[in-house]
Amino acid sequence: MRTIRLVGTNEEYPIGKILCIGRNYAEHIKELGNETPEAPVIFIKPATAVIGKGEEIVIPPYSQECHHEAELALLIGKKGKDIPVVEAMGLIAGYGVAIDLTLRDVQAELKKKGLPWEIAKGFDTGCPLSDFVAASQVKDPQNLRIRLTVNGVVRQDGNTSLMIHRIAEIVSHMSGIFTLEPGDVILTGTPAGVGPITSGDRLVADISGVGSLEVSVR
Ligand code: ZN
Repeated sequence: MRTIRLVGTNEEYPIGKILCIGRNYAEHIKELGNETPEAPVIFIKPATAVIGKGEEIVIPPYSQECHHEAELALLIGKKGKDIPVVEAMGLIAGYGVAIDLTLRDVQAELKKKGLPWEIAKGFDTGCPLSDFVAASQVKDPQNLRIRLTVNGVVRQDGNTSLMIHRIAEIVSHMSGIFTLEPGDVILTGTPAGVGPITSGDRLVADISGVGSLEVSVR
């Protein structure tokens, strides 16, 4: 079973459920031609989708268009249910860098039919994660630069200050639906600039003060 290590501590967490929020940055909603939702759009990836630094993304044969989405990832350190917004930050043990890989062609087809997106989001290797740093090391998680390059070319360059639903709101909202447990991971949505990746590409996602994550496409 994969675990998440908190850099600089002895803490290690078996990866639980990966809760994701979609459409959380206005410019990204615009680029996909989506409507801004009133409530957060939520989906889940299984722990088996995770790969780490230096590992390879394998695009499933049923897709011709896999997109990168660089995102700030939260590591939950405490169990919690129905957590008020003012207490929500206390559940976060650490922060990391995630790439929410999305089979855009498959997702578009499912969306059109009103069907769930799981096979466009939860496939093996579809959730690269970096090491995590302790929450105490990140002064203002709501003001972090997020960048992603493909083969050295900048594709995404955003900031967590541009989130529609703030981190504390996301954790509180998620905890009203799912019991949060240590080892759960929350992906907080992607800024603009998403785009396709192909075999041989080298992706580097980087969040200031948190870390970076390099993976390649088989
Ligand atoms: Zn995403």
